[in-house]
Amino acid sequence: PFFEGCVDTAEYLNHKKYERQNATFVMLTRNEELDGVIHTMRSVERRFNQWFQYPYVFMNNEPFTDEFQERVRSLTTANITFALVDESSWNFPKENTPLFQHYVESQGDRGIMYGNMVSYHKMCRFYSGLFYKHPAVRQYEWYWRIEPDVEFFCDLTYDPFFEMKKAGKKYGFTIFIKEIYWTVPNLFRATRSFIKQNDIKLGSLWKAFIKNRNVLLGDDYLNSFVNELEELNEEMTHEFLIDYLKKNWAREKVIDDELIQEIAHRVRRKVPVVEDKFDQEEYNLCHFWSNFEIARVDVFDNEVYNKYFEYLESWGGFWQERWGDAPVHSLGLALTLNAEDIHYFRDIGYQHTTIVHCPNNKEGKQLPYVESSKYTEIFERESSRMSVKEKALQYFKTGKIDDGWD
Ligand code: GDP
Ligand code: MN
Repeated sequence: PFFEGCVDTAEYLNHKKYERQNATFVMLTRNEELDGVIHTMRSVERRFNQWFQYPYVFMNNEPFTDEFQERVRSLTTANITFALVDESSWNFPKENTPLFQHYVESQGDRGIMYGNMVSYHKMCRFYSGLFYKHPAVRQYEWYWRIEPDVEFFCDLTYDPFFEMKKAGKKYGFTIFIKEIYWTVPNLFRATRSFIKQNDIKLGSLWKAFIKNRNVLLGDDYLNSFVNELEELNEEMTHEFLIDYLKKNWAREKVIDDELIQEIAHRVRRKVPVVEDKFDQEEYNLCHFWSNFEIARVDVFDNEVYNKYFEYLESWGGFWQERWGDAPVHSLGLALTLNAEDIHYFRDIGYQHTTIVHCPNNKEGKQLPYVESSKYTEIFERESSRMSVKEKALQYFKTGKIDDGWD
């Protein structure tokens, strides 16, 4: 975090070195979502913008109604722009063709989350490669993305844009989670082929998104492992190896069960060198959860990313699959950014839908640190009678969940 605890905001704003940034909130939304929009704005204003007065840009593929505009205006004294997204940025070029219909319907039949909602595909495509080109957004250097129905739990007493700028940061997140595989089966392949064709020099951020099988299965790794085992003088049965790997090598967090099996096989057969390391990479499905973003507009509005988006368009993945803007942003950022360019807003308490980030969830604070897989376990039990918050609280207190179901 840039600061521990609260800052005296009046003093902060009056400091001679403080510079207000050319920044805005950005929200794409529909007239029908007014209640959720109000909820979000109340939270944003109360926790942050009552002091900082950054403007808002609301975007919609249909004109905002008078009611929507009046209600929204009544919630802030900051400047507001209501912007229309034109049809050419919103619609798919061939959405009335049988092939398009077939792919979208098929995603519905296969139970892919939001797969059969054409509007959801449009939203993902728009946020992936078009929102930052809209003139209403492009005039700014920084943006903070918000959505209807989000909640900020803690006061943000400093200016995140200014602090990011000062620290040389370019993209900030609060939540990092895994994508559902079947929404993006070919996204990583498309991305790698873009990298090869254009000879992209990847930033170090790339490493955050790969299952680094090549490192683990490469020559050095296998050799060191074989040496270590030979000293043990044990019979190298498969079971022994699996057990040994789990006990001694699982400390490398990237080792999952599947990988352990694979390493064990390779060690037993001494399968040699992985030739092309890049070709061995796989997407670990992690991504910055993009309904919250604080970033420079030019992390996307640049030659490499724009070309990347056009390339993805040419693959048809925004409709043949359901590529989300979150994994597209993450992989796209990794084409140009280094890990140091990213800021983790660990101090911003944030909730959207059932997913929450609480700054207290770290070691040394009163609540125990909970692995994100545990959250998934908690939140996936959707059919229960307890609210998600109640379940989470119970889990924090007792270490288990008893929600009245078998
Ligand atoms: P989820 O968070 O992935 O479930 O996606 P949402 O349904 O919240 O959509 C993401 C953002 O895009 C939200 O800000 C929505 O208000 C907005 N959005 C989604 N679909 C549409 C649409 O068809 N038109 C407009 N104008 N906004 C949309
Ligand atoms: Mn949402």
